[in-house]
Amino acid sequence: MMRIIFLGPQGAGKGTIASLVSAKLKIPHISVGDMFRDAIEARTLLGKEAKKHIDKGKLVPDSITNELMRERIAQKDCKKGFILDGYPRNINQAQSLDSFAIPTHVILLDIPEQVSIERLAGRRQCSKCKHIFHIKTLPPKKEGICDACGGQLYVRNDDKPAVIKQRLALYRTETEPIIYYYQKQKKLHHIDATPTVEFILKEALRVLR
Ligand code: AMP
Repeated sequence: MMRIIFLGPQGAGKGTIASLVSAKLKIPHISVGDMFRDAIEARTLLGKEAKKHIDKGKLVPDSITNELMRERIAQKDCKKGFILDGYPRNINQAQSLDSFAIPTHVILLDIPEQVSIERLAGRRQCSKCKHIFHIKTLPPKKEGICDACGGQLYVRNDDKPAVIKQRLALYRTETEPIIYYYQKQKKLHHIDATPTVEFILKEALRVLR
């Protein structure tokens, strides 16, 4: 059974690659960020609380995030494995995950900070099906419209320059330490995520074979 984690800075392609791997392996792709954005759109209590932190480029408190993930992974569709994108994001979350589902593969998609900034600045996401595009490197066939479902594309609130910087700083201080956490457990696979989506996907599938 595969319990896969995608790690890497914002814009490394975690969402894009995770959804392709999910289609290939037929196990669910769980994006914590998408779950929070859905909750914000639905104006639930969780959404209201999450929005306060997300719009500032901060992490949603661990107590909320860990519980959300524990419940999500307990669902039936995760019985045959799952792919996590955006969780865990700090040591506390990595330890919490170990208490309810021990990961089998951790794939680090790595890119330099400058590439991260360029990718986030040009990122567009479908408001309906969450598919991700980039105005230069992965443009939709029709500007502003999702190729997959015809939904409207939008710029995420936290993909604005000032918030991007704050998020990258958090990645370095909070998330990078879990790279070493999984390295010590010999679960970490490093992939250079600067080339094309096709290349990165091939590498990821090779690691998972
Ligand atoms: P993402 O779509 O993964 O970039 O997530 C967007 C935002 O959701 C992040 O900047 C955080 O504010 C919040 N978020 C996503 N995943 C987590 C997590 N594991 N822990 C806390 N906050 C998170």
